[in-house]
Amino acid sequence: MVNISDNPVKQMLTFGRYCKRRFGKRVRKIPIALAGFTCPNIDGSVARGGCIFCKNESFSPTLDKEPKFALKLNPKMTENPLLETQLQQLQNQYHWQSDFHYNKFGVEKYMIYFQSFTNTYAPFETLKKLYTRALELPNVVGLSIGTRTDSVELELLDFLGDLAQKSGQEIWIEYGIQSVYDETLKFINRGHGTENMESLIQESKKRGLKVCSHIIYGLPKETKAMMLHTLDSVLKWESDGIKIHPLYIIEKTMLANLYHQGEYQPISLGDYIELIVESLKIIPQSVVIHRVSAGVRNDTLLAPKWCFDKNIQMRSIRDALRDAGIEY
Ligand code: SF4
Repeated sequence: MVNISDNPVKQMLTFGRYCKRRFGKRVRKIPIALAGFTCPNIDGSVARGGCIFCKNESFSPTLDKEPKFALKLNPKMTENPLLETQLQQLQNQYHWQSDFHYNKFGVEKYMIYFQSFTNTYAPFETLKKLYTRALELPNVVGLSIGTRTDSVELELLDFLGDLAQKSGQEIWIEYGIQSVYDETLKFINRGHGTENMESLIQESKKRGLKVCSHIIYGLPKETKAMMLHTLDSVLKWESDGIKIHPLYIIEKTMLANLYHQGEYQPISLGDYIELIVESLKIIPQSVVIHRVSAGVRNDTLLAPKWCFDKNIQMRSIRDALRDAGIEY
């Protein structure tokens, strides 16, 4: 007979639990999308066309609400005519979203999430001003900056490390790792390989920054063993946090073409859930889990259809985790 106390429930450190422990309150991430930002994998610096699944607007609904500007920034520019617009957008987007979360859910503390495109791909002076202003907004406890591992200079990490130390606020760098297989990164037209992933994570941590590694399950030609090996690698590199996404197909992307030609089949909900259960068995309870689901709730989603509703997705994931003795 199995004694229940022999099999204690493993409670994961979700981002929500982490924030409550760290800041004593619920914290909401506020996604920010600013004019002028792009990605070196889109503007031709390393490639054109972007990752085969990328349609950045559908990942960043805030972008639809902002006016469009033809000018796109890159780190080599010495001037940024959009800076005042960007600072205003930052403030406006923060206030309307934080007001909403305060009025509807009583959330009092926020983390600014520079989410769309590559948020370190702009002139250094611009980045300094945006990050500094973001930390000065009321009730902000920290920043989260989404980027690629080919777009972060050590000089920027030095600045962010100092900023975190001086302000006493927390700064997360969210690296889009996706896979630790060069052949996969090549196939998805990532525009970079695995070369500096580990060292960049270490350099960030050395400066007191928190690292969240994003990984994707269901990438073309990857087996479950490969996906779990990617997870294992980012854990070995001592990521402080993990975000896991299923790969879904958005209309008018290269991945959509492959799907229509019968050359790519998305991961099934059953397989994805199985992988998440396996993953959470491996992830230590000290690692912050930022997310294990993703989807897009509009008709640009081609497949898999289970990525339409994140709530249904999460319900199935939670049920399976509970059966495995894991509390998420
Ligand atoms: S790195 Fe991000 S923004 Fe750039 S092409 Fe890939 S998915 Fe799109």
